[in-house]
Amino acid sequence: MEFFRRDFLREMFTKPTNLINTNRGKEYYDQLYKKAEERLNWLKSQKPVREDDIKFDEYLSMWDISRRDFFKWVSMMTATLMLPPSFEPLVAQAAEVMNRVPVIWINIQDCDGNTEALIRSSAPTVDELILDYLSIEYQETLMAAAGDQAEKCLEDAVKTFKGQYLLFVEGSIPVKMEYAFTTGRHPETGVQRVRRLAKDAKAVIAVGACASFGGVPAAYPNPTGAVGVMDVVSGVPVVNIPACPANPVNIVGVIMHYVLTGSLPELDSLKRPKFAFGYRIHDNCERRAHFDAGEFVEEWGDEGAKNNFCLYKMGCKGPFTFNNCSIVRYNDGTNWPIGVGRGCIGCSEPDFWDKYATERPVAASDIRPPAIGGVESTVDKVGLTILTATAIGIGAHAVMSALAGKKETITSNKEE
Ligand code: SF4
Ligand code: SF4
Repeated sequence: MEFFRRDFLREMFTKPTNLINTNRGKEYYDQLYKKAEERLNWLKSQKPVREDDIKFDEYLSMWDISRRDFFKWVSMMTATLMLPPSFEPLVAQAAEVMNRVPVIWINIQDCDGNTEALIRSSAPTVDELILDYLSIEYQETLMAAAGDQAEKCLEDAVKTFKGQYLLFVEGSIPVKMEYAFTTGRHPETGVQRVRRLAKDAKAVIAVGACASFGGVPAAYPNPTGAVGVMDVVSGVPVVNIPACPANPVNIVGVIMHYVLTGSLPELDSLKRPKFAFGYRIHDNCERRAHFDAGEFVEEWGDEGAKNNFCLYKMGCKGPFTFNNCSIVRYNDGTNWPIGVGRGCIGCSEPDFWDKYATERPVAASDIRPPAIGGVESTVDKVGLTILTATAIGIGAHAVMSALAGKKETITSNKEE
C-alpha cells in the first residue's frame, strides 16, 4: 500500500507546521537586545498610567513574593518567549514598567472562564500579580464600579489612551442574532462594542477559545452566529490566545513581548503567538514514549490507563492540537488534562467543540490527518525533517480510523 512507503511517509510528515525557529543567530538576538533596551529606557521615562501606582518592589513584598521567586518566574517567562537567558534582566525590567501600558478588557458572549481562571487560584501567582500590576482601566468582572460609573470609566479610558491601549476581548461575538449580547445604558451589541473599542486600540488581544474562534457558543447549530474577534475587526492587529481557558502564562507572555519590544510576537496563520502555539501537544506530552512504543489505553480504567499509557485511541487530539500546555500546564503549573488521564480535546483549534472534543475518535471528527492535507497544512512553513515511529503510528491509526468511519457511514446509509 502506497501509504506505508517510506518516501511517501517522509513527504507526508514534513508538511509545513507552525514551529518557531528557536535559534536565529547572534546577530538577530543582538539587534533585538538593543531594541528592547531602547524601548525599556523610553518606558522608564514615561509616567505610570495611574499617578498613585506603587513601585514594583513594594508591590511584590505586599504579596510576600521574594526577589528569588520573582527571578525564578523571570527565567520561566524568558524561556516561554523563546529568548536566550541573556534577556532575563530585560524581562525583569519589563515586568517593572508594565504599569505604563493601559489595558481595556471587555467580555462579550462567554462564561467569564478566562477571567475566573486567572483569579481563582489558591494563592496569587506572579502571573496574576503582573496582570494586577498592569493598568487595567476597565474590566467588568473585577472593577468595583457599576452602571453609569463603569461606563464612564470605559469612556474616559478610551479618550485618555486613544491609540495606545491594548484591547482584550473575552467571549465570542454573535453576528446572526446580534442582540443576543447587548450591554450599556445606551445599548450596543457585541459587534458594535468590539468594533468601536478596537478602532482606537493599539492592538486587540482575543483571550480564550470563544474570542479566538467562536468556541462553545459557535458549536453546531450555532444559533447566535457566534464568531471570533478577528471575523468582525479590521484595520488593527489581532492576536488570538485560544484555549479554554487561555493559559495565564500565554496572556502575560503576549503582554511581556509587547512591553519589551513595542511589537506583537510572531504569529501563525491563525494569529496565535508562535512562542505558545508553535508545538503540538503531542510533541512534548509525557505519555509520548508510550505512543512511540505502541502502548495505548484501550478502555477507561484498563491496565493501560493504570499505567498512564497513551490516550490516542481514547480520542486524544494532542497530535492535531497546537499549544504549550504540555510544557507550562495549568493551575500554577501543577497539572493538565493528559496528566490526570483525559485526552486533549483540542480547545486551542478552530471548531474544537464540533470536531475535536471529548472521546470522539479521529474518524468521527472530520479532522483530516496530516497525510491528506489536514491540520498541518494550514500553518506556516517550517518542516519536520525526521520520520519517526510516531509519524507511522499516527498515520496508520488515523487512516485506519478514517476507513472505519467510512465503513460505518456506508453501513448506516445502507440500513436507512
Ligand atoms: S496522543 Fe495524546 S496522550 Fe498520546 S502522546 Fe500524543 S498527546 Fe500524549
Ligand atoms: S490539553 Fe488540549 S484540551 Fe486541554 S487545555 Fe491543552 S489544548 Fe486544551
